[in-house]
Amino acid sequence: MTLTVGSETGEIFEQIRMPTTTPEEMLPLVVDYFRGQNIYALGIACFGPLDLKPDSPSYGYITTTPKPGWSDCPILPVLRSGLGIPTAIDTDVNAAALAEHRLGAGRGFDNMMYVTVSSGIGGGLIIGGQPVHGCMHPEVGHILIQPHPQDPVPQGFCPYHPSCLEGLADQHAMEKRWELPLAEIPAGHPAWEIEAHYLSQLCMDTLMMVSAERIILGGSVMQQETLLPMVRLQTQKLLNGYIASDRVLRHMDDIIVAPGLGEDSIAVGALLLAAEVA
Ligand code: ZN
Repeated sequence: MTLTVGSETGEIFEQIRMPTTTPEEMLPLVVDYFRGQNIYALGIACFGPLDLKPDSPSYGYITTTPKPGWSDCPILPVLRSGLGIPTAIDTDVNAAALAEHRLGAGRGFDNMMYVTVSSGIGGGLIIGGQPVHGCMHPEVGHILIQPHPQDPVPQGFCPYHPSCLEGLADQHAMEKRWELPLAEIPAGHPAWEIEAHYLSQLCMDTLMMVSAERIILGGSVMQQETLLPMVRLQTQKLLNGYIASDRVLRHMDDIIVAPGLGEDSIAVGALLLAAEVA
């Protein structure tokens, strides 16, 4: 968990990181820390799934996470009453998408998606300049994917779905499939071609479903620099010339891009969430 103090324009003043344990241990520490910082609003950018329906009795609760101890955690009510200040919540990836849209690689594009490919895959979607919530919030990590013919574990590793994106393509899936730590999978290993096969299906479907103008891919897996160009190339192949837009046909490097805020997208997003309720 990262605690950030900053301005309503997204400037970070101070940041501390602590290992995520249980809500009983952590939430009192969060309240103590921010009480000492004299802040006037709080933004929570939290892993999901979350209840984000404002009229729901469990608004601001984490719902059914596999993370031990965090299911049904009333994170928003606990922090809001502990601090007594205006408090906002969204998913970590919607917050990151908001930050990238306002201040990062998504500036100028009102229809865009931010995806983190890390220990898990999550995506925040901006449509018409605003984060999408809908029925719950997007869970793009669990869209269904066609396995690569050379994937030795084509069903993937998600406990809920065979062959979903996260189960096939997050950091854990790569490490389990190849029995190597991520940092030890070298450029040129077949792992990357297969990874690009999976992420390009996400990009193709995003272009087709929401006509995204920017798709921002971040997270630990994207640190392999050869991957992003491979994803662009495979997305072009999948699209097969179907979308008759000059940007899509000739400038995929202007559509599928790295985050503009680097590792800070989520923290800056939390500051922007706070600014909206301050
Ligand atoms: Zn899944």
